[in-house]
Amino acid sequence: MPDFRKTARRLLLSVVFPALAACTAPERGVWQQQLFAFGTLIDISLYDVDETRARAAVQAVDEMYQRQHHDWHAWQQGQLTDLNNAISANRSLATDLSIVTLIRLGQKFEAGSDGLFNPAIGGLLDLWGFQQDDGPQGPPPSAASIQEWLDSAPSSLQLDIDGQMVSSRNPAVDLDLGGFAKGYSVGKAVDLLEQRGIHNLVVNAGGDLCVRGKHGSRPWRIGIRNPLGPGILASIELQGSICAFTSGNYERYFDYQGRRYHHILDPRTGYPASGSASVTVLAEDPALADAAATALFVAGPGQWPGIAAAMHIRDVLLIDEQGNAWITPELEQRIHFEREPRQLTIVSPVSPGGQLH
Ligand code: ADP
Ligand code: MG
Repeated sequence: MPDFRKTARRLLLSVVFPALAACTAPERGVWQQQLFAFGTLIDISLYDVDETRARAAVQAVDEMYQRQHHDWHAWQQGQLTDLNNAISANRSLATDLSIVTLIRLGQKFEAGSDGLFNPAIGGLLDLWGFQQDDGPQGPPPSAASIQEWLDSAPSSLQLDIDGQMVSSRNPAVDLDLGGFAKGYSVGKAVDLLEQRGIHNLVVNAGGDLCVRGKHGSRPWRIGIRNPLGPGILASIELQGSICAFTSGNYERYFDYQGRRYHHILDPRTGYPASGSASVTVLAEDPALADAAATALFVAGPGQWPGIAAAMHIRDVLLIDEQGNAWITPELEQRIHFEREPRQLTIVSPVSPGGQLH
């Protein structure tokens, strides 16, 4: 079966809970439409908007998504693969402005996460088979090939940008924007809808979402998927201008000889990050929320508070591989657990110096 259908079906499962929880369709006042881009179902809910305006607005969002899907794809030919090919041939290339913007953002996230978030990780993702339309099958790459990647030490901070001209000091840099492009584009979709006078809405890309305003007289209610089994783990009410992004080990993976290998890789080891099952981050900026969820997933239960502080993230929920939960104090006040985690620990983001963020 073509991978996108498998992806669509899997994501439908993860989307349905937030979507149902957010706006049990068909519900009075809410107009809902689904799009498909970035291998994900994107569910748009608009409150109290007439149908003509809603349709035109969602059409505009769809056109934007299809353009981005083409330009930013990490392995189908487009602007990003052209740039990666130029980098590996030690050539400079003038690229699209949106890619320049994303590279600058990615550099900020890489620096802020102490390299745990690394947008130059494409070569390693490819080694693991995660850069292909078909689901990866294994076997995992050899230890020698992983070591070779580690030795080549690619980093987005090795890129130089002059206007739209991009060059790299390291030909092993291979950009993969999968860790934050979805967040960035959800933000752009929200901007587009707001420019069209729509102020109460949810844009939900596979469980990663931003809300604006309210659902009539009450907040939007969203669900956070249980990473260790079916159903939702917790729900939370959101209103105003806020986004919730989750990175989970269940999104894309393969099983090989009794072991599971997922798609969030630890740039320090070259292997799938261990320790976390999912990380949810709330933030106003969706690209930051997306990147931080990935970075804190890599940091794991022991190290996430320092990285959260460095990335200026206040609201985090981390579930580890055993089902224990770590949560920041303000989020703990707002969250409703549908099922009790094995153990719940409340932790503040804290910088390595020990000062509270
Ligand atoms: P999802 O919402 O699908 O769980 P995430 O936001 O967690 O996605 O991002 C996972 C994607 O990020 C991977 O598919 C890959 O493209 C990219 N990625 C994996 N590991 C890293 C990393 N350490 N730093 C930056 N990007 C990564
Ligand atoms: Mg992410």
